[in-house]
Amino acid sequence: MQKAGRINYRDTLGPLQKTRAPWLPASLGCWSLGSDFYSLEQYLFVGPRGGGDYFRIGIFAGMHGDESAGVFAAIRFLQELAENPNLARGYELYIYPLCNPSGFEDGTRHSRSGRDLNREFWLGSREPEVDLLERQIRTLRFDGLISLHADDESPGLYAFALGAQFTQYVVEPALRAAEKILPRNCDPTIDNFTARNGLIRKGYPGMLCAPPEARPRPFEIVFETPHHADMEKQIEANLVFLRNALDQYQQLQAVGQDL
Ligand SMILES: [Zn+2]
Repeated sequence: MQKAGRINYRDTLGPLQKTRAPWLPASLGCWSLGSDFYSLEQYLFVGPRGGGDYFRIGIFAGMHGDESAGVFAAIRFLQELAENPNLARGYELYIYPLCNPSGFEDGTRHSRSGRDLNREFWLGSREPEVDLLERQIRTLRFDGLISLHADDESPGLYAFALGAQFTQYVVEPALRAAEKILPRNCDPTIDNFTARNGLIRKGYPGMLCAPPEARPRPFEIVFETPHHADMEKQIEANLVFLRNALDQYQQLQAVGQDL
């Protein structure tokens, strides 16, 4: 039952449900929890053709239900792309603004089944959100994956740079651009990991990433905003980070660096 006053994830995605949108929406699957129905929504935005083959990127937000800045940023990013498709030149962007709809409605990190979905990937999870995303990730063979999160213990921005070795070269300039909006967390330890200038090179088992068999590894980025910072600034930092990461990856590819 939809409780009175509770936020509805479909309303949040409402701005993306318009007709003749420049993105392609797809419902990846749905599941029920009691009398509530949930679905995992994907929006594909194909930019103008670049110099070569399209790069395929997955952008994931709202995996932790109480981290809404990334959700709003992903929605706004799609709207931004509609106005300025050149931001996605050479890219097929698969955007998942709300990976944990029940947690989003409940305002909780975990999904309503009580699981931290971002510790369940490639470990035989039975959670529908994880299962649906794993299928997509395995099928689409992304060149890069970017996850948007917020950390309630961090005073500033930071990122996990995982996957391909060159990931750090995508992240660093994007962090530098985003820290014009919010400060960077330069602590030597963040979230129990060794960090350098806001960059962490190791992740938790079960975090959303490419399938274990994927070779070569795509770039895998988890971008974290400080959860207690102003919401508008967190959203803006996410947008700046996304624009710059995409731009940077393309530049790295263009110079043909064998990183
Ligand atoms: Zn998170």
